[in-house]
Amino acid sequence: MKENPERIIPERLLAEIHGATNIVLLTHSHPDGDALGSLFAFADILETLGKKVLCFLEEPVSHHYDFLPDIQRANTSLQTFRQFVIDAGADILMVGLDCGDDDRLGKSKAEFLKIEPFLVIDHHRSHRTFGTISWVDPCRSSTGEMIYELAQALNVPISYNCAYNLYVAICTDTGSFRYECTTPRTMHIAADLLDKGVRPEEVGSHLYDKYSVERLKLMEMVLATINLCAQNQIAFMHVSGKMLKESGATIQDVEGFVDLPRSLHSVKVAVLLKETSNGVVAVSMRAKGQCDVAAVAKGFDGGGHRNAAGFRCQGKTIQQVQQELQDALSRALL
Ligand code: 5GP
Ligand code: MN
Repeated sequence: MKENPERIIPERLLAEIHGATNIVLLTHSHPDGDALGSLFAFADILETLGKKVLCFLEEPVSHHYDFLPDIQRANTSLQTFRQFVIDAGADILMVGLDCGDDDRLGKSKAEFLKIEPFLVIDHHRSHRTFGTISWVDPCRSSTGEMIYELAQALNVPISYNCAYNLYVAICTDTGSFRYECTTPRTMHIAADLLDKGVRPEEVGSHLYDKYSVERLKLMEMVLATINLCAQNQIAFMHVSGKMLKESGATIQDVEGFVDLPRSLHSVKVAVLLKETSNGVVAVSMRAKGQCDVAAVAKGFDGGGHRNAAGFRCQGKTIQQVQQELQDALSRALL
C-alpha cells in the first residue's frame, strides 16, 4: 500500500503522551467493540508507561461486552472524573478515541473539551475536527489498529489483555475481517495479536454465540417489519419500544440485526431504525459496494464510514424518518 502522510503518527501527539502523567481516556457514547477495546487497550499501554489513567464512560458497559478484559477500568462517575482532574492539576491530558465528532462525546462534552491538551485518535471518514491535536486516518480498519501502531511507536510491549482488547476492536469494526477496510496491515496486526495468545474462537464465541432467547424473539419481530424498496436494493427494518417490552430484550440486543437484510443478494443498503426511550429515532445503515452511506448520514447530521453509518432524529416518527431516508438513499443509488 502507498504510504499516505496520515498513516504517520503526529510527533506532537507522541510528545504529549510522553510528557503527561495523568491521562483521561474517552470514547463515543453507546460504545461498540472498537471504542471499548481501544479504550481498555490504550489504558493498559499507558499504565505500562507509568501513567495514571482514568477511562471515563457515560454509561456502564453493555452486557454484550462484559467479557472484555480490564472492564473494571471503566468509570462512570463524573465526580471521580472531576476529582482526577483536580488532583492532576496542570499535568493532564485528555484523549478522545474512535469519536467522529465532538457531539459523540456525550452529555459532558463541554466539560471535557475545556481541558487541554485534548488529543483525538479516530478513523471515521466523516470526521469533523475537534480537540488540540488529531490523528485521523480513514484508511484504518479501526481505532484499535491505530492503538496498536501507537504501542509500537511508544515502544511498549503488548500484554495479553491489551492484545485481546485490540483484537475485539479490529474484529468488530471489520465485520470479522470482511469489510473493505481490512488491509494487509490489518491482517499482520491481527496475526501478531494471536501470537500474544489471543484465541479467535474464544473471542468469536463471546461476540457471536452468547445471545439470549429474548434477543431471538426480538429478532423475529424486527424481521417481520422488513420492507424492501428500490428494486429490492434498500431494506428497512425497525424496532419499537413495544417490541422490546414484549420480547423482554434490551435495545443493546439489536446489535448485529442490521446485517441480516444486508446479506440479501439484491440489497445494497440495509437500514435499521430504532425508537429510543427519549423520543429519538436512532438509525443504523450498512452498505455494500459503492454506495457511501456516510455521505447520506451527513445529510441528517450524522456520520460514520462509507459502508457503515448512522444518525439520530428528534421529534419524528419512524415512518417519517424512513420516508425521508428512502428518498435520500434512492438518490444516492442512482
Ligand atoms: P452503528 O450503526 O453501529 O450505530 O454505527 C455505525 C457507524 O456510524 C459508526 O462508525 C458510528 O460512528 C456512526 N454513527 C452511528 N450513529 C451516529 C450518529 O448519530 N452520529 C454520527 N456522527 N455517527 C454515527
Ligand atoms: Mn471504530
